[in-house]
Amino acid sequence: MSLEEIQNRIAQAEAKAERAAGSVTLIAVSKVQPNERVEAVLEQGHRVFGENRVQEAAGKWPDFKARFEGVDLHLIGPLQTNKARQAMELCDTIHSVDRPKLANTLARLAQELGGCPDLFVQVNTGEEEQKAGILPADADAFIAQCRALDLPIKGLMCIPPVEEEASLHFSLLAKIAERNDLTGLSMGMSSDFEKAIALGATHVRVGSAIFGARAYEL
Ligand SMILES: *Cc1c(COP(=O)(O)O)cnc(C)c1O
Repeated sequence: MSLEEIQNRIAQAEAKAERAAGSVTLIAVSKVQPNERVEAVLEQGHRVFGENRVQEAAGKWPDFKARFEGVDLHLIGPLQTNKARQAMELCDTIHSVDRPKLANTLARLAQELGGCPDLFVQVNTGEEEQKAGILPADADAFIAQCRALDLPIKGLMCIPPVEEEASLHFSLLAKIAERNDLTGLSMGMSSDFEKAIALGATHVRVGSAIFGARAYEL
């Protein structure tokens, strides 16, 4: 597939859901991809990218940012508190705020740095043990806690369990967002972004459908 094809499919999904054209942001997930593939997508004019790991992002994006204007970088993978400062300096949005300790660290660093990236709270909608994210039952209280810390929470993010119907998880995430007055919904990947758009996604995170298969999984 290609960037253009994914952009067309997003436009069709927006129209089908009777949503405004351009209401969905495409995050091109470039983790693990060879630099030539990332560069090709930058050359086509795309600027919104997603990375899973701070270390990997720090290795390639300062150079790309120097060469291409207007890069908008999203951290979509789990964040350790000892990498929080680097993540805040490098990324425009962090999608993986998922525990009080991290929220406290981000708030302290935001004071120190005089600013904070846009933030999404990650919800573990499938309640999977190995997966990051706040449990659905704890989400409201955690969002309130983040707000009390003055963190700029823009929305919620989820990664549905692979073996379950993604739509159920997208609906649950949308419901939690609505009752907390949050408008951002980061949900939908290569295999299910159209379903996510139908259920209100504002940010879809698409990797392999744009860049091709990754050489390995993280
Ligand atoms: C890798 C990744 C994606 C993209 O996955 P694809 O199936 O390649 O589209 C989206 N979101 C997160 C959190 C990821 O880690």
